[in-house]
Amino acid sequence: MVAISSGFRLAAIFGIGAVLSACSLGGGRSFDTQGLMAPPAQCSIKPSDVGVAERMSAIDEGNGCRVPNPWRVSAIANVSFSEPATLNCGMADPLNDWLRNVVDPAAQRNFGESVMSVDIVASYDCRARNNESGAKMSEHGFGNAIDIAAFNLASGRKVSVKEGWYGSAAERGFLRLVRQQACNDFMTVLGPGSDSYHRDHFHLDLQNRGSGGHYCQ
Ligand SMILES: [Zn+2]
Repeated sequence: MVAISSGFRLAAIFGIGAVLSACSLGGGRSFDTQGLMAPPAQCSIKPSDVGVAERMSAIDEGNGCRVPNPWRVSAIANVSFSEPATLNCGMADPLNDWLRNVVDPAAQRNFGESVMSVDIVASYDCRARNNESGAKMSEHGFGNAIDIAAFNLASGRKVSVKEGWYGSAAERGFLRLVRQQACNDFMTVLGPGSDSYHRDHFHLDLQNRGSGGHYCQ
């Protein structure tokens, strides 16, 4: 009887220990944000003025990930998002400019039709860069980044980053142009050829490097 009860006690102690260490590993994880500047709380344009968007309450996960002025964005510049994106308000202006003045004219020129929607694969996401443990926090942790995997045209044709990058002349021309021009609106632009993590999507972010430098690879 004594042996059983002490066995129970041991099991209980080990059980509690396992739960505690799991919590401290998961919930207490902090990201390295050295050199990263959180996005400003004010926006140059209101996301709902240029698209379909609802204001959310500020996000602060206490581990580096925080979005001072988040919006749930479903469309910008008449281009629908495949899923609502959680973005800091400062993303609305560059997305609006790029979708309206670069993406749509490029689609007209290359395909003779408009882009109706984009496939969003990530927006706000509290994680390290490229999901690598020990890496610095991603701009996704500030709601300051969006990942786009495909552009859907009015006819229903899908131009995906992964296949289209090596696709027809029109697809190659369109994707290269919109990627290159995105560097005027965003501070970081990554895609196929940048590294193995960006083979199948464009990553666009507003990382404030202090120097005002862009990184478009
Ligand atoms: Zn990304």
